[in-house]
Amino acid sequence: MSTEAPICAEPSCKKAATTSCDYCEPPTQYCSDLCLKADYKRHKKGCNGAEKSNCFLIRAKASNGGTSDTDHIERFSLESYGEWKAEMKELKERLSWAEANEGGKFYSHDKSVHRWYYYLYNFADKNKTQNEIASRCTGRTIYGDVAVVRSSPVGFNDYAKRFSRGELLRTLDFYRHNNPCSEFAERERTRCSIDIGLGPDGLRLSGATHISMSATHFSMSH
Ligand SMILES: [Zn+2]
Ligand SMILES: [Zn+2]
Repeated sequence: MSTEAPICAEPSCKKAATTSCDYCEPPTQYCSDLCLKADYKRHKKGCNGAEKSNCFLIRAKASNGGTSDTDHIERFSLESYGEWKAEMKELKERLSWAEANEGGKFYSHDKSVHRWYYYLYNFADKNKTQNEIASRCTGRTIYGDVAVVRSSPVGFNDYAKRFSRGELLRTLDFYRHNNPCSEFAERERTRCSIDIGLGPDGLRLSGATHISMSATHFSMSH
């Protein structure tokens, strides 16, 4: 790593960078939100993370032989997004998986997010290469490639379905330093107490509104 402070990417600016584009990897840096906005039209064309998709693959082995997280990620557009049975069918067909299962789920690096999570599909096969990135983010050992979509517990559907490579990379990076199991428990608790109106002890006040299958995806207990 360079020891020099990075310089603002706005071509006419020479100030030290203090902020960055939310999507790129590595992030393109700017001295201020003003410069970030001023440079957006130019930067957008070269920004490697801005292109959004409803699904990305995290390969167990990078097809380019690289070792960074971004080398393992491939954009994958799901035609059937929104209905888990159709999604599984499409993944099996297009990726030649014998099965499609829930591989796990993990919350965003954004601590304020508790109404949706990244949800993994995979074909669990212990003979395949361990997927180090998916294992890191879910806290369990995951083998083979995974497909990542956004999903939510039942009753919540108000999140952006499409996301960028850069957003996903930020989250994958977050789990280098944060425990996925405690993060998961914390966000679940937050949602329960804030959104469903549960008591502070976490006990359910009304009937069985929180069922174990989401509107769009399986939501087995973690
Ligand atoms: Zn600047
Ligand atoms: Zn960018």
